[in-house]
Amino acid sequence: MSKPVIATTSLAGCFGCHMSLLDIDERLVQLIELVEFNKSPINDIKTFTRQCDIGLIEGGCCNSENVKILQEFRRHCKSLVAVGQCAIMGGLPAMRNNIPVQECLKEAYLNSPTTRGANPDKILPNDDELPMILDRVYSCREIVKIDYFLPGCPPRADLIWNALYALVTGNALELPYEVVKFD
Ligand code: SF4
Repeated sequence: MSKPVIATTSLAGCFGCHMSLLDIDERLVQLIELVEFNKSPINDIKTFTRQCDIGLIEGGCCNSENVKILQEFRRHCKSLVAVGQCAIMGGLPAMRNNIPVQECLKEAYLNSPTTRGANPDKILPNDDELPMILDRVYSCREIVKIDYFLPGCPPRADLIWNALYALVTGNALELPYEVVKFD
């Protein structure tokens, strides 16, 4: 019987949610026996080679490339899981949402203590190859339909494991308080 296929990506995130997935420790061996990984930074497969059952999304959308990748995951995955607060509601990157983009760029590239003086020509990134920054950070569900949400920053390894195990085996998802609490 073929194994369920999982893909993962990090959009506007810090990879902490992927690190939490790796924190399932020895259960990784069990996971690898249960599923096959397709496009993911975990195996460095950079393009989809087949349709997948589950897409794990870390991070929200802060630029045009994030939107393109998220839409690609929606097309290639039967179920999409928003993993962590950045994917669910924008998270830390969304702190910029009340500040105009031009002000954010000036602070980051011209005025901050670490960049002041290091950019004498006062150039803001403008290469055509760079993805277009969005007016604000969007949660994943504002861009595509999301099927499941795993809260936390990052979600605990036990929560990720319980949810993945339930999804790939069809068993009921058990969520004791210790697993979903944030601290
Ligand atoms: Fe990083 Fe937290 Fe965002 Fe996950 S939810 S990508 S750990 S900041």
